[in-house]
Amino acid sequence: MRALRKTAGGAGNLVLEWVPRPRPRPGWVVLDVRLAGICGTDLHIVADEFPNWPPVTLGHEFIGTINSLGEGVTGWAVGQRVVCEPHALACRRCHLCRRGLAHLCSEKRSPGWGIDGGFAEQVLVPADLLHSVPEGVDDVAAALVEPLSIVVTAFERTPVPLGGSVLVLGPGPIGILSALVALAAGAGQAALVGRPSSAGRLAFAAELGIEVWDSSGCDVPEAAYAWTCGRGVDLVVETSGGAIAEGIGALRRQGRMCVLGIPGADVIPVPWGLAMNRAADIAFSLSSSYSSWDAALAMLARGAIDPRPLASVFDLADWEQAFAATRERAVVKALLNPVASQNAIPTTSSTEATQ
Ligand SMILES: [Zn+2]
Ligand SMILES: [Zn+2]
Repeated sequence: MRALRKTAGGAGNLVLEWVPRPRPRPGWVVLDVRLAGICGTDLHIVADEFPNWPPVTLGHEFIGTINSLGEGVTGWAVGQRVVCEPHALACRRCHLCRRGLAHLCSEKRSPGWGIDGGFAEQVLVPADLLHSVPEGVDDVAAALVEPLSIVVTAFERTPVPLGGSVLVLGPGPIGILSALVALAAGAGQAALVGRPSSAGRLAFAAELGIEVWDSSGCDVPEAAYAWTCGRGVDLVVETSGGAIAEGIGALRRQGRMCVLGIPGADVIPVPWGLAMNRAADIAFSLSSSYSSWDAALAMLARGAIDPRPLASVFDLADWEQAFAATRERAVVKALLNPVASQNAIPTTSSTEATQ
């Protein structure tokens, strides 16, 4: 089968190659991948800025159907549509696993960087990480469950204030989804802030009904205080990795900030005195909890949010275009389709899949 693999360490070394199909093993299942999303993390893996164990097939966000069950797998059937938490090989024994925080286990090796992932026709995953996709949720929406779960996990840490104000910094997929979820979950007002370099994404978010601010034209804390009639923001969600200071400045006293963005450097300046003055509650959210996956699927099933407009589908054979479009921010979320010639999902490319 075809698989998009990082063949060696260092920057680059990404190759679409033929590999043997995975075989089911006890407790694991083989999925036929229908769609798999490219994430910012994948760009970091390609650049060798994120841990990875080559040679390895990339792709940690995918929807598939069950092709075959390993020995001892119960409760699942061939043909079922599923998504999969990427917390493979979590040890189940450490203090984090035993607290129910397997997504934070230091032993975990996710499909897509630790073990072979979903940028392939098939992927082998542990059955206990699967979630069934409800009938009314189509493949494109289901392919976005992983980033949606990242957002839901953040709101598990810092709940959306009912009727309150939520300011989201950074208009990438996680930022746009954060604003949509905040509105769906009962925020009184929500706005999304971005730089002029993200003008396209801001315009796109505005089309989805989200209030957007171009940060080049305003002082974000000042604008946030004006926006909340001088109160300051109840909850800031920082998804850009580069706007910690603005976020703290925008908070009301004892307001909350949840940080999701990965900073460009290990050490960044933080206005500590201002955070103290704000009596701020600041949380950092990493990865996605077990509970967030079912919650994300339930929100999609009810139509509470519709993330499908974020997606652009590419044939797996056109992976270079898809990665370039992601890097250049020409698309919000690129999905790779490894079976483009075999199903009805429209692709953005006319290239035939080579079988
Ligand atoms: Zn991701
Ligand atoms: Zn563990």
